[in-house]
Amino acid sequence: MTKPPFVLVVGAGQAGLATGYHLRQACIPFVIVDGNDRIGDSWRRRYTSLTLFTPRQFSALPGAIIPGNRELYPTRDEFADYLEVYAGLFNLPLRLNSRVAKLQRSLSGEFEAILVSGEILAATHVVIATGGFQVPLVPKIAAGFGSAVTQLTAETYRDPSSVPDGVVLIVGDGASGRDIAAELASKRPTLLAAGKPRKLFPERFLGKSIWWWLHWSGLMRAPVDSAIGRLMRRTDPFPDRDRNLASLARKGVRLMPRLTEAAGTTAKFSDAGEADIGSVIWAVGYRDDSDWVQIPAAKNPDGSFAHTNGVSPVPNLFFVGRPWQRNRASALIMGAGRDAGAIVKLISERK
Ligand SMILES: Cc1cc2nc3c(=O)[nH]c(=O)nc-3n(C[C@H](O)[C@H](O)[C@H](O)COP(=O)(O)OP(=O)(O)OC[C@H]3O[C@@H](n4cnc5c(N)ncnc54)[C@H](O)[C@@H]3O)c2cc1C
Repeated sequence: MTKPPFVLVVGAGQAGLATGYHLRQACIPFVIVDGNDRIGDSWRRRYTSLTLFTPRQFSALPGAIIPGNRELYPTRDEFADYLEVYAGLFNLPLRLNSRVAKLQRSLSGEFEAILVSGEILAATHVVIATGGFQVPLVPKIAAGFGSAVTQLTAETYRDPSSVPDGVVLIVGDGASGRDIAAELASKRPTLLAAGKPRKLFPERFLGKSIWWWLHWSGLMRAPVDSAIGRLMRRTDPFPDRDRNLASLARKGVRLMPRLTEAAGTTAKFSDAGEADIGSVIWAVGYRDDSDWVQIPAAKNPDGSFAHTNGVSPVPNLFFVGRPWQRNRASALIMGAGRDAGAIVKLISERK
């Protein structure tokens, strides 16, 4: 006789909470565990001035709008607090301060999650919702800077007081790198090293948020392996909220090409230019923290999680919130509910 399902959801960010919402609707028993002691802390730990790039109408989970002007953008703390209220609103069973140190399969084929406290939780199904932007990448080149250069990442940077006086170099011109450069430009001599040329899309078009158009045209839901999906993935556009290179230059940011070498306090660039710097902020992306998952088939050789559309090759193991899990929306708030619904449907069909 097969055991009735009991789902362990690891991670109580938007992906885990949306999964909880759908499990509740499907009457499947579950618990959500999170290593943090407060819901929303993955947002509260990001830089203080962070304002979401998705307006409120596209920053909500199923069943609860985010109050306020739907065309405008929630702040970091506003969204973190929304998540906290959301968990209470649907009375989601939560265990905070409960980091999973090890996830393994038991002899009976079920899952055992060993918490840092040593407690063991058993589950028939597991949904990993631990986020796609976990460990900031620091490239090997960083080792070339001497101890006189303060090194931060987009995760350890809080506000301009995090950065000592002197020239600061931000490496990476994604949304975070550009936000941080714009914020620092009036406080410190600021350089921004860009990589591949990026396309930014206009913030609004014909009176509507660009997200409205992307959503209603179906582009956000274009499958990851479709021609449009592949194009979106390659270009990875984000909205231009006064963060195009020309407007950053007007704010005083000095635009540099790719960083190619670091030597002591000298940064060298692909155009043979050099700059003497006092600090560097790495904003070049993230990697997964998957060491705690001790099921070899759950991971690719590079340590990233293996899955197709959120379904692991390991039976009864699933993901929600992976970047490009099914489409561009998957790692965004607007995609969490839909992806969670699809995974919970699979769990209920297989129970
Ligand atoms: C700087 C930045 C800005 C962004 N802005 C936007 C935006 O404007 N709009 C938008 O739609 N998206 C945005 N995103 C993308 C995405 O919405 C966020 O990254 C969001 O936090 C992802 O939610 P999540 O639930 O998947 O993961 P997270 O919010 O990272 O939550 C994962 C949770 O899992 C827990 N956890 C991890 N490992 C374990 C473990 N072993 N045991 C127990 N718990 C564990 C963590 O404590 C955490 O609470 C942004 C991302 C970044 C990095």
